[in-house]
Amino acid sequence: MCLDNYFTSTRSGIADLMGHPRFEFIRHDVTEPFFAECDMIYNMACPASPVHYQWNPIKTTKVSVLGTIHMMGLAKRVKARILQASTSEIYGDPEVTPQSEDYWGHVNTIGVRSCYDEGKRVTETLAFDYLRMNNVDIRVARIFNTYGPGMHPYDGRVVSNFILQALHNEDITIYGDGSQTRSFGFVDDTVDGLIRLMNQEKTIGPINIGNPNEFTVKELAEMVIELTGSQSKIVYLPLPGDDPKQRRPNIQRAKELLDWEPKVQLREGLQKTIDYFKALDLRKYSKPTS
Ligand code: UDP
Repeated sequence: MCLDNYFTSTRSGIADLMGHPRFEFIRHDVTEPFFAECDMIYNMACPASPVHYQWNPIKTTKVSVLGTIHMMGLAKRVKARILQASTSEIYGDPEVTPQSEDYWGHVNTIGVRSCYDEGKRVTETLAFDYLRMNNVDIRVARIFNTYGPGMHPYDGRVVSNFILQALHNEDITIYGDGSQTRSFGFVDDTVDGLIRLMNQEKTIGPINIGNPNEFTVKELAEMVIELTGSQSKIVYLPLPGDDPKQRRPNIQRAKELLDWEPKVQLREGLQKTIDYFKALDLRKYSKPTS
């Protein structure tokens, strides 16, 4: 059973599942309650790209707060196990690197990213309070930047922006000087980590799911230009507010407790993503916030 309000997704993303006899799609917004029998819930709801979550920041906070209350309430009623998607953003602009799960973070409460960062922090608080009060069988994953085939071409995040710009020989837009770092996780690795965490028999603390290989945004731009053979030039635009300077997961807990680590490194993952974008018919997509 798949719930989505299509704010940042498309029907084509689930087209191959639609004919499956055990797949059911329900158009639903988790800020409204939902009732159904189920055994496991993956609460992944929330726009994750800054341009999308900042489009209506109050709604973004509602998705995290109300959506998580509704999904935790459902898990409580039907005694389902629930995996709550949290994020590396709960570390904010981190003062330590790499970020391990016991780091409490460095988050601005009133900035343009706060609706997402603070919203996701509350999802963690809610999960652990539902565990303490109602013994709900929770799992919490802190997902780092994820990319790969299936991405919306107008997702607005760095990987899809750079690849589309490179494929069209347009300027590659680096925000700031490009020295800020991110650790990019390939989608298959992220999904594998989430499933392993869900299937882990007992509740453990939050778990980082990410690739510890860290790249500057400039290195990413150069790799995309090289892999696409693009004529694009790099241009430098202003850095958005509160943009974290570095991000790199410590994944020791995931290795030990889930026997998980990423298998696909950036060069290979980018190549697969470039091939996916090359084959995509962009006329079928519109900008989600337009
Ligand atoms: N970024 C960039 N050019 C773009 C989009 C993003 O230089 O066209 C930068 C952005 O400022 C940030 C990093 O790339 O430093 C990752 O941004 P993204 O929006 O992908 O996700 P974030 O990790 O910031 O949530």
